[in-house]
Formats: sequence, structure tokens, C-alpha cells
Amino acid sequence: MIPNDEVIELLQSLIRNACVNDGTPDSGHEHRSAATLQGYFGVDGTIVEGHPGRQNLIYRVPGSNPAAPTLLLIPHLDVVPASDGGWTYDPFAATRADGYIWGRGALDMLNVTSSMAAIFKRYLDGSLPPLPGDLVFAATADEEAGSVLGAELLAEEHWDLVACDYLLTEVANPSFETPSGPVLPVTVAEKGPAWRRLSTRGAPGHGSQPYGSRNALIPLAHAISRLAEAPTPVDITDEWRTFVVGLELPDDLTSRLLDPDLVDGAIDDLAVDDPIFARWVHACTHMTITPSGLHSGIKSNVVPEDGFAEVDVRKLPGQDETDVNDHFRKVLGPDLDEVDIDPIVTFPANASPYEGLLWEAIGDAAEELAGHRRLLPAITPVATDARFFRARGVTAYGVGLFDDEATFGGMLAMFHGDDERVSEESVRRTTAMLERTVARFGELS
Ligand SMILES: [Zn+2]
Repeated sequence: MIPNDEVIELLQSLIRNACVNDGTPDSGHEHRSAATLQGYFGVDGTIVEGHPGRQNLIYRVPGSNPAAPTLLLIPHLDVVPASDGGWTYDPFAATRADGYIWGRGALDMLNVTSSMAAIFKRYLDGSLPPLPGDLVFAATADEEAGSVLGAELLAEEHWDLVACDYLLTEVANPSFETPSGPVLPVTVAEKGPAWRRLSTRGAPGHGSQPYGSRNALIPLAHAISRLAEAPTPVDITDEWRTFVVGLELPDDLTSRLLDPDLVDGAIDDLAVDDPIFARWVHACTHMTITPSGLHSGIKSNVVPEDGFAEVDVRKLPGQDETDVNDHFRKVLGPDLDEVDIDPIVTFPANASPYEGLLWEAIGDAAEELAGHRRLLPAITPVATDARFFRARGVTAYGVGLFDDEATFGGMLAMFHGDDERVSEESVRRTTAMLERTVARFGELS
């Protein structure tokens, strides 16, 4: 049994290191938390640094049977910035109060990072016997800005260090209550970014005489409003179907949530009581389109000669780049064919099968610790480090175990939001869940 205070103190150190990734290469400073973890383990690991200070830390404990599958624990070290104000406690003080640890990263995902480190330490120092296969620990940089200096770098250029068959990473979610008891979501799939840049060209002129001018801002503004208002393509995936059925909602709501023609009305109904959950349901059933930037003009009295907009697009498993392009062209229509559409960031949506060795290990751990093995395959709308590994055939999941008060909607609200916090009990349960999952994976290997 791993002492909970040990995990909580490590979590506090990682929060206080403030490895804030604002998207610029000089932010992040993950070397601080790489140093904390090396001190905690008492053994130096392998550092991969894609930019000064942007450190990934990797260890491998060899297994006893070369033919057995390798398991990778891959948590990230960076966090997103915190707003000024809006927090009860300083987001980087890691205050322990009211049964919670408060701070940026408490849920995304330094809680899991700490639990995984505490478990891995036992294998590293030999106090737990080695698994049949290798056990690898890779704490990554830059997850919050596309993983270019983190998991992508490791998978593309240092595969020998992180090669694996199975992995555990984010997202760990609280259970849902259903009429026949709790069900535990396990993240098995994620949407694929398909970000676009829209650009226009006009001709400069004096702002006092607009008649007949070619103002680059006008078609761009039309394009954005059409994209924001048009319904986006629906895809009911197998993961979604299994997830919704497992929630044991009223029959009518279940069938509407699984019907491409009725799902929008069902989401509107859900939004009355739970707008945050409704937003997530929408993201799990639709290609989403979020205009996220607009840049044009140099001065109040000059007709803009060019402009561009950025659009965050996320496609579901089953949707591809062609679907995105077709949707954009259809919505913009022939009168806006002057708007150029170019990809910025694209990556396929990806999913792991919800069966097999690691799935069974998670089910066994849940049965032992939560008294049931009812797992729901969940899609996450966000991109995680798992995608670079699923692309290489690795089975990847995110799982944890939370206290009885934690709710799925509450968790969604705290991800990248104010007053992010995790309870001491959730830390304890997540450590136990992951510890038992790793051990059971070894027993089943
Ligand atoms: Zn995360």
C-alpha cells in the first residue's frame, strides 16, 4: 500500500514547479519537474530535451520474459496557464485544504503523474517484482501545446526508449451513477485535430471611400459566421453507442442520443439541466468547428488588403480530412470561393479496442477496488499523448478512480478552468486503481 501522503507531497511539488506551457518554446520549464522526479526516484533517468528546459524523463524496468508485452506509463508534466483571479487559492501554491489539493494541474494531470510515479518507483527500486514484460515510465513535456517537444519527439525520434505494446495516460474520469450502480469511464479514443486557416486577399484603399473596394475582412467575416452557424456532420461511433447504452438513461433519451437525426434535440434537452455535460455530448457526436482567431487590418482608416482566421476543427473516429474539406466548401458556398482554406494542424482521430489484456486488467482492478467491472469506453474530445502511440498500433487508455462526490461534469468544468482541485481520497483511489491495474497486467501477461 503506497502512503497517500507520499503521493500528495509529490503532487504538491509538481504543482509548485509551475511548468506552465503557454505554447511558446521557452515556456513549460519541465526540467523542474524532471529534476523533482529524479530526486524522488533517487536514480537518474534518460532525458530527452527538444529545446532547452523542455525535458522528457524516461526509465525502463526490464521484464523477466522477453516475449511478454511492454507497458508504458506516460503522464505529462506541463500544465496550461491559470487565470488571474477566479481562484480560491493561489493556483501554484498547491494548498492542501478541505480534503483537497488545489492548483493548476491537480486534475490535468499531475494527480495521475504523481500516482504513476509512486507506483513506478516500487518497480524501479525492486520493492515490487518485475513484470513479465518491460515496464516503462515516460514523463513528457509539451502535451498542452501539441506534444511537439514531448510525446511526438519521443515516438518519432526515440522510439527505442518508449517502445511498448500497451500504455496508460489520460484522461481519468469519475464514475457515473446509473440505476444499477456506478459505471467507470475508460478513455479509449480521441478526436483528431483538423485545424484550418482561412485567408483572403483584397486591395488597400482609403477607409473614407469604401464603394467598390476589395476589403479582405468582409468575406472572412462571412465565412466565420457561416461556419459557426451551420450544423456540423454527426457521427455515431461504436464507442459512443456502447457508452450511451451503459449509462442506462431513459429509453427515449438513449435512442435519441444514438440517432443522427435526433441527437441535436436530445443535446438541447440535456443542456437545460447540465450545459457542461451537453457540450461534451455534442463534441462526442459531432465534428466540431470553433473559430478561434481573426487577424486583419493595420489602421482604422485603411481598407484591409489581407486577413486570416484560425478555426479549431475536431473530427471523430470515422471522419477524415476529406469530410472536413467537403463541409467547409459546402458551408462557404460558391460566393466565398475566394477564401483559401489550408490545414494548420491535422492528425487522425484514433481509438483502441476495448478488449484484451489491459482492458481485462482494468476491469479486474475495478472489481477489486470499486466492487464492479462495468467499464464504459469513452471518447475524449481533446488530443492527448496517446495518439502518437495508437498510430503505431499501441493500445492506449486513460483511467482513474475518484471519490464518491466527484462528478463527470464537475471534472469537465475544472479541466483548464478555475479552482482545479483533486480530493485526497481521489488521489488515494487513483493510485490504488493504477497500482492494481499494473500488477494485474503483469499477472495476465
Ligand atoms: Zn492533460
